[in-house]
Parts: sequence; C-alpha cells; structure tokens
Amino acid sequence: MIRLRDVSFRYDTAGPGGAALRQVSFDVPQGGFRWLLGPSGAGKSSLLRLLALGARPTSGRLEVLGAAVDGARRAALARLRRRIGIVQQDFRLLPDLPVFDNIALPLRLQRRPEDEIRDEVRAILDWVGLGERAASRPPQLSGGEQQRVAIARAVIHRPALILADEPTNALDEYQAGRLMELFRDLAGLGTTIVVATHNDTLIRRYPAHALELAQGRLVRDG
Ligand code: ADP
Ligand code: ADP
Repeated sequence: MIRLRDVSFRYDTAGPGGAALRQVSFDVPQGGFRWLLGPSGAGKSSLLRLLALGARPTSGRLEVLGAAVDGARRAALARLRRRIGIVQQDFRLLPDLPVFDNIALPLRLQRRPEDEIRDEVRAILDWVGLGERAASRPPQLSGGEQQRVAIARAVIHRPALILADEPTNALDEYQAGRLMELFRDLAGLGTTIVVATHNDTLIRRYPAHALELAQGRLVRDG
C-alpha cells in the first residue's frame, strides 16, 4: 500500500545539508495503522506531504496505493489523490463555503448524485455532532468544530488511505477517543491510516505500530 526505499527529500529553498528526509525506508500494508512520531522539525509534515502526493521525493523510490510515484504523470497522481483523505494541521477549509459544501467536496469530485451526497453529509455531520451547523461558514466555528469538519471531509468518500497531521489537537479527550475508534474501525475495513501526533496521552491509550523520525531519519519502525 505504501512503500518507501531510501527516500530523501529536500525543499528547493533549503541550504546545503538541509534535507527534511534522509534515506527513509518502510512499508505499510493495506489496513495498517501507524503513529508518526518525532520532535518538531523531525520531518513528519514533509513525510505526510510526500505520502499525500503533494511533492515528489528528491531521491529514492516511493509507492503509494500500490503505484510508483516517481515516474507517474500528473493526471495519474491527481486520480490517486482522490483516494486519499487528508486532515491538515490548519484544517484548510474553504471559508466562504458552508460546512455542508466543505464536507461534500470529495463526493462532488466523484460526481456522486446530489441526493446521495445529501444523505452521506447529513450522516457524517451527525456523527461529528455538527448536525445544526451545516449552513455555518468555517470562520463562525470554534477550532474544535473546524477540526471535526476537516475530519468529516477527509473520511466521507471512504478513501483507501487517510493521512492526518495532529488531528486531535483541537478536540477534547472524548472527541479524540471517538476519532481513534473511527480510525480503528476504518483500519479493520482495510483503510490504511498514518497519524502524526505529539499527543502522548492518546498514544498511551491507543498503542500501535509507530514510525519515529529524528532529524529526517527513521529511527523506529515497530
Ligand atoms: P511543526 O513542528 O508544528 O510541524 P514547523 O515549525 O516545522 O511546524 O513548521 C511550521 C511551518 O513553517 C510549516 O508550514 C513549514 O512548512 C514551514 N517551515 C518550517 N521550516 C521552514 C523553513 N526552513 N523554510 C520555510 N518554511 C519552513
Ligand atoms: P515536523 O513536521 O516533524 O515538524 P517538517 O517536515 O515540518 O517537520 O520539517 C522538517 C525539516 O524541513 C525542518 O528542518 C524544517 O525546517 C524544514 N522545512 C519544512 N518545511 C519547509 C519549507 N517549506 N521550506 C524549507 N524547509 C522546510
């Protein structure tokens, strides 16, 4: 599902020696769950960016959803990207669109019928406890509510791969627990999930296989 072999990554703006990822190799099978750990600056966001097909490795081999990213054409990458659900640290919601339409975006990209979209969005709005907020715009919501919208948007189209960067940092303990239960259920159904976090309480409550980065190198895979 995910395979990296000696993947290195350097931002165009980085100085000499300033690689964000250094010869990282690991696999994640379909239905695998991975914590992605490491201090600030270790390379977690950069790794998630590569897995989200938002950048290509500077060197090394990367396969995502079984496809080699290196030689892939842009159109092929765009098709793959639609099978990935992403929760970004800063949510990336569209501020001028109602919550309903923010969440519906991945389904509209799939050209699903509007009546199906309405049912699916209603159901997930209820699950994240925002049934009354469908018509609100993201700037009217609290941080925790915005994060729940971002989570709903990331999972609504049942992606094969979910990538989440600190998806619980604006949630309370109860909501964070529900998200972890959802991830566990989705992984059980074959969804591959990678979650970057600093939340030690959560990691202790939900022990799982961890990938740990330090200064761009993978220092733990287990
Ligand atoms: P965190 O540890 O919370 O992930 P960082 O401090 O690594 O955050 O980065 C915060 C933001 O600044 C990110 O969007 C990152 O892409 C950007 N950033 C970090 N380091 C650099 C850099 N050397 N040059 C340009 N942008 C950077
Ligand atoms: P983390 O998410 O673990 O905090 P990052 O992937 O954000 O780590 O950062 C890894 C390294 O890449 C850091 O040295 C950071 O300064 C650098 N970096 C991150 N974003 C950028 C960017 N946009 N341009 C240049 N360097 C960056």
